[in-house]
Amino acid sequence: MNIADLSLAEASDQLASGTISSEALTSACLSRIEALPALNTFIHVAATTAMKEARASDTRRANKASLGPLDGIPIGLKDLFVTKDMPTTAGSKILADWQAPYDGTVVKRLREAGAVIVGKNNQDEFAMGSSNEHSAAGPCVNPWHKDRVPGGSSGGSAAAVAAGQVLGSLGTDTGGSIRQPASFCGIYGLRPTYGRVSRSGVVAFASSLDQVGPFGRSAKDIALLMNVIGGFDPLDSTSAQRDHPDPLLTLKNGVKGLRIGLPHEYFSAAIDPEVDQVVRKAVQALQEAGATVQSVSLPHTKHALSTYYILCMAEASSNLARYDGVRYGYRAEETELRKMYARSRFEGFGPEVIRRILLGTYVLCAGYREAYYERAQRVRTLIRRDFESAYEGIDILLSPVSPTVAFERGSKTNDPLAMYTADILTLSVNLAGIPGLSVPVGFSSEGLPIGLQLMGKWFDEARLLQTAQALEDVLQVHQQRPKLVA
Ligand code: GLN
Repeated sequence: MNIADLSLAEASDQLASGTISSEALTSACLSRIEALPALNTFIHVAATTAMKEARASDTRRANKASLGPLDGIPIGLKDLFVTKDMPTTAGSKILADWQAPYDGTVVKRLREAGAVIVGKNNQDEFAMGSSNEHSAAGPCVNPWHKDRVPGGSSGGSAAAVAAGQVLGSLGTDTGGSIRQPASFCGIYGLRPTYGRVSRSGVVAFASSLDQVGPFGRSAKDIALLMNVIGGFDPLDSTSAQRDHPDPLLTLKNGVKGLRIGLPHEYFSAAIDPEVDQVVRKAVQALQEAGATVQSVSLPHTKHALSTYYILCMAEASSNLARYDGVRYGYRAEETELRKMYARSRFEGFGPEVIRRILLGTYVLCAGYREAYYERAQRVRTLIRRDFESAYEGIDILLSPVSPTVAFERGSKTNDPLAMYTADILTLSVNLAGIPGLSVPVGFSSEGLPIGLQLMGKWFDEARLLQTAQALEDVLQVHQQRPKLVA
């Protein structure tokens, strides 16, 4: 077995016992990146510094000064996390070659834990998309099938983990951008509760919805990464000031007595029958392991898509006003100031970002604000209350992550609404601010991964991971790796 195919937790154990070195592990991952350029998973690879960090980690271990379970583990970062030693482009031409003067909080925490930062992963421009096709760096490819998308917007981070180019990675999830690519690539992806992980030093898309989270190949991988990145940060005013319990302590507690709710709105006719079947089999496995299952209703689900897109576009139009050709990145050759702003933005942003800025500006303008933006805010409250009432009688909610398996590249790029609809099962989690975890539970007849979504109560990530672990123990789907062809 190639050591790049180990899970993060397994590699961590082997580093601790001295069976493998970080140098060997990092070099195995870098070889995978080099061997599979067609996947286009990275916008920037820091091979030399990664090898240097790996050797430093091995020296620490030899001196009995290991920094913990992540010491020496190769990690990828979505290109939305600012890094002081690598460019940060957010997948956009407008930030081409831009380099931040500092590391964001989670990057700092990873480095302090000894993680080896291998590079910056491909993504949809400013995290807007569901397929990683809207990237100035070109589309990213699903390691399970060369014609399929890896999902988005954190497509590169998910595909890189699935392909063994890193053992874990970080993404962001505003409407599904961690869970959906995790599902399409057959790995785990957690969108933590809003406020659980710091967003300081993360390029903003829609600030009331954005959250940082990890990708990994097992429930334990996610727990190990959360232990390092989670917890209060004074640099993020939305960061929650509360305990950050170690999910490893409860990981093996099983699901006996766990009350699971299946929201019937999430099992509609729009779900691909194969997806439905695989998810229901996983539900059965949980029942056999001692969980109880009941049907519940989240009645405002039908309004989630329109609510989400109004809010995220409004917030994006405001957040992206800062890219004016003066302070950051790309500037058009133009001497007249207003023209310079307009041309820099028009030439620097891609078509999806421009569409969202236009629509977002529209829903915020005088006369329409009340009809669109403010009404969407009120509907958001109703959606959140749906979850509050559902959780009165159950512990977690369960559904598919996506109505389909990974779709073909190009199949939705000319139809924005079809692309937006791909997020129908994930974005309510963001509107409510709750945690959501994507768990690999099976494959379609074509061999494409299928993910199951667990949705928890606010700050109840540990229970999601505990449930995922129970599924993992029975299904063993996490052991499967894609056949990688260059
Ligand atoms: N696909 C959704 C969108 O395009 C979600 C993106 C995200 O979570 N960053 O907005």
